[in-house]
Formats: sequence, C-alpha cells, structure tokens
Amino acid sequence: MKTMGLVAGPCSAESREQMLETARGLKEIGVGTLRAGLWKPRSRCGTFEGVGEEGLDWMREVQQELGLRVMTEVALPCHVEAVLKAGLDMIWIGARTTVNPFMMHELAEALRGCELPVWVKNPVCPDVELWIGAVERLHQAGLKDVRIIHRGFCTVDSSPYRNAPLWELAERFHTHFPELPFYCDPSHIGGKRELLASICAKAISLHADGLFIESHCCPQKALSDAAQQLTPPALAELLNTLNVSIE
Ligand code: PEP
Ligand code: MN
Repeated sequence: MKTMGLVAGPCSAESREQMLETARGLKEIGVGTLRAGLWKPRSRCGTFEGVGEEGLDWMREVQQELGLRVMTEVALPCHVEAVLKAGLDMIWIGARTTVNPFMMHELAEALRGCELPVWVKNPVCPDVELWIGAVERLHQAGLKDVRIIHRGFCTVDSSPYRNAPLWELAERFHTHFPELPFYCDPSHIGGKRELLASICAKAISLHADGLFIESHCCPQKALSDAAQQLTPPALAELLNTLNVSIE
C-alpha cells in the first residue's frame, strides 16, 4: 500500500451546512486538509461566482470545530489580505492566475514575508516556462513553502479529458523543481468522475506526492463542477481501489 498526501473538498463553498457536512464526511475517512473555493474564476457571467468573504467564517468553523487544515484559492491581493486576516492554513493559486506574470507579481508581493504554504497550479495553457516563472516569483518574495498542483492544460483536442494531462510537461516541470511537493488534481484533468481512477493511477505511477481532489457531500447539487466531484465515501472507495493510504 502506498502512502500519499491528500487534499480534498468541494469545488466551491456554497453554504455553512454544505461545508460542515462535507468536512465531517472527509474527516471520517481520514482527510486532514480541506479545500474549498470562495472566489470562483468562472468562464461565463451569470454562473455561480462563489460566496466570497462570507465563506471564511465557515472555513474557520471547519478549522476550529473539526480540527482540519483549510485552504482556498486566491487570485487578487484583496483575497490574500482576507485569508491572512481570517487565519486559514494555506492557499492555492489557480490556473487562470499562474498564466499571468503581472498577477503572479502582485500576489507574490501581497504574500511577501508570509509563512503559510502556497500551492501553485499549472497555467491553463501548456507553457512550462510560465509555470516555472510563477514559482520563481514566489521564491523571490521569500516564500519558503511552495507546493505544486498539476491540473492539466487547455488544448485544442483534449478529449477524453476536460484538461489534457500532458504528463511529459508535468514531468519536465517537476525535474526543474524536484524538491517541491508535487500533487495531481485528477478532478480538473478528468472533468468527470469516471476518469478519476485511471488519472490517479497514472499520477501514482509517476511518483506524485499526493492528490488534490474535489469532494462534495452531494455532488449532483453542486453549484460548480458537479460532474467531477465525489462524495467522501466514494473518495474512500477510490483510495481503496488505488491501494493508497492517506499520510
Ligand atoms: C478549482 O480548483 O476549483 C479551480 C478553479 O481550479 P483550476 O484553477 O485548476 O481551474
Ligand atoms: Mn473546481
């Protein structure tokens, strides 16, 4: 049995009840770190764009009442400020932000001197240099604990995936920063539950340090990324199939 890191949680924080129910389910299966998006980078106007700062209270409740570490996505300096003030444990920078050197510079400056772990997703486009540059900007701002998430890339033909994994690009990046913890996000690569097992198996065969997976107490009611989320019991079953135990 392989031991791996695991971060899991809903694509979006939607309500206090949804957060607590999901967090309880995840705690029950041994998850120690919960992810949930508060500010959602949606492609189209008029779709659910996240609950914003209101959700910070729910994240804190999960942290304090259930003892889980909690993390969310930051895309603007004002998100960083709100997250630091609320005392969340970690943050991640999404694929639509890593793609932009100006935004990475702004975020790195907003984070200068912080000690919290910062996870960096690959950029939406298949450009390893942008991914490397995003990490370099954080290192230049003095951030010591940078971790990596591979979530696949937009390509003209990515079928059957939502975002083509392009494993060789991920490996090239990993070779550049071999010391950084490297996690795979099969949820945004696959875009559908049925593909998760095979993507995870491939990531494990390539020695990923952990998995970053979307899990929702009631996926069919999710306000974003409904087709790719797993209930906590289904996540436990997936880990079992993969012969993986959580670190
Ligand atoms: C997410 O993790 O919910 C998300 C928006 O991810 P990405 O930046 O990989 O699209
Ligand atoms: Mn999502």
